[in-house]
Amino acid sequence: MDRILITSAIPYINGIKHLGNLVGSQLPADLFARYMRCRGHEVMFICATDEHGTPAELAAAKAGKPVEEFCAEMHEVQAEIAKGFRLSFDNFGRSSSPQNHVLTQHFAGKLAENGFIREVVEEQVYSPTDGRFLPDRYIEGTCPNCGYDSARGDQCDNCTKQLDPTDLINPYSTESGATDLEVRETKHLHLRQSALKDDLDAWIDSKHDWPILTTSIAKKWLHDGDGLQDRGITRDLDWGVPVKKGTEEWPGMEGKVFYVWFDAPIEYIAATKELTDANGEDDSAWKRWWRLDAGAEDVKYFQFMGKDNVPFHTLSFPATIKGSGEPWKLVDYIKSFNYLNYDGGQFSTSRGRGVFMDQALEILPADYWRWWLLSNAPESSDSEFTWENFQAGVNKDLADVLGNFVSRVTKFCRSKFGEEVPTAGEYTAEEDALIANLTARVRAYEDHMSAMEVRKSAQELRAIWVAGNEYLQTVAPWSAFKTDPERAAAITRLSLNLIRLYAVLSAPFIPDASAKMLTAMKTSDDAWPGDVAEALNALPAGHAFEVPEVLFAKIADEDREIWQEKFSGTRD
Ligand SMILES: [Zn+2]
Repeated sequence: MDRILITSAIPYINGIKHLGNLVGSQLPADLFARYMRCRGHEVMFICATDEHGTPAELAAAKAGKPVEEFCAEMHEVQAEIAKGFRLSFDNFGRSSSPQNHVLTQHFAGKLAENGFIREVVEEQVYSPTDGRFLPDRYIEGTCPNCGYDSARGDQCDNCTKQLDPTDLINPYSTESGATDLEVRETKHLHLRQSALKDDLDAWIDSKHDWPILTTSIAKKWLHDGDGLQDRGITRDLDWGVPVKKGTEEWPGMEGKVFYVWFDAPIEYIAATKELTDANGEDDSAWKRWWRLDAGAEDVKYFQFMGKDNVPFHTLSFPATIKGSGEPWKLVDYIKSFNYLNYDGGQFSTSRGRGVFMDQALEILPADYWRWWLLSNAPESSDSEFTWENFQAGVNKDLADVLGNFVSRVTKFCRSKFGEEVPTAGEYTAEEDALIANLTARVRAYEDHMSAMEVRKSAQELRAIWVAGNEYLQTVAPWSAFKTDPERAAAITRLSLNLIRLYAVLSAPFIPDASAKMLTAMKTSDDAWPGDVAEALNALPAGHAFEVPEVLFAKIADEDREIWQEKFSGTRD
């Protein structure tokens, strides 16, 4: 038994995520976590909401709520949706937790002690009316490039030019509307990533088994231009982790908080502690996952994320960990994803384009989405969601292949032999051939799942379902019943057992349908198949079952057209 630590990139708090976000980290991480649990490993699967930073403050202001209240509410919303998608986190934490405050301050203190923090005096816009320094997004004005009158301090939304607040013509505070802005000096902390560049470079070089997508992005950041740059880790904001050196005050940094990118990955660790604290366990319970000096030497740590998060996870977070000089667990494997596009364009949170996680669950159960998204995961390149592909995938794989098999077998048995596994008949060469085929396919499926090859895993699982249908078509128990009922009984006995096997193998992809299949087979035996022939004898002759309700309804053209229209434009 291995100990498997899995983290999914943590979703930002300011809104409900779309399906592209889901398939880029949380969903494949869940697939892997479920599979590892099925195989009997001890799993710690962590995710959280990323709650600090300017966008959270602005979203809260827009909602007319204090930022803490806004974050608490949005966390609950995201947690409920995650449950709806059956994301099996051991903890879905919050980066604003007291545990993360302490850990973030601890890391900053260690980095400072080891000389990896530089204090930098910067010029920044100050608003005497607001009594504070204004972050980029709190300043708007006229774009010097295109003349748009509501350009933000970091970027013009009209012409997309990247800006500095001091570039803006007639700048004003979005907080108060004040125009008496002035430039003042303020001190910030920078993480000396450049000083850790060679160490990080050698570490990335040692990761021969990482996906090219992961290592190529890391290498680009390490070497392009002037190479890896130092990075600011503090902000002039109210909402965040107050800047402290461990537990000590940090002179000159009063009233400042850590930059959200610095505290967000530390939340992986903090969320584990949130869990064990909530369980009333002592510190050894979370440290055995995260500290090499407290039992984490044999932990295998896997991270899942979209490609936009790779630089932080290959460089910035490891710089934090390495720079601390303490024996923290570093990631062993980073699985990164390209983007899922939507119907000829991009998903867009700001424009409400595409399907959002809450909307998806209002239309169809989680398994439909899980199956399609995972079987079309954007692994080697970007992939595209179209309603036609979604309809075709669901109808063919789930309804015609898997659902139809379960329905035909159980209904046939009920009508000819009653609702129990038939006793008569022996297996023949046809069953032997099926078992040999399934054995090879199950072993290939295991290999792909262990390697986090999501699409290949889905293809293999589909092939396992198809093999059952083809077998049924060939041996035709409905014909055999007329001339040789014992033969029909043997075929049915094997096919009912195959339903149980399908439930076990399919659980990581479609957990609800899997549970329904087990319930219909009146068994709780969900043991992973070692020997396939043995697994196909798990339900003995005479074992009762029931015909389940339709596992997967087909998506009608009419519904597809309605949804296509509904999700083409702006979210209401
Ligand atoms: Zn502009």
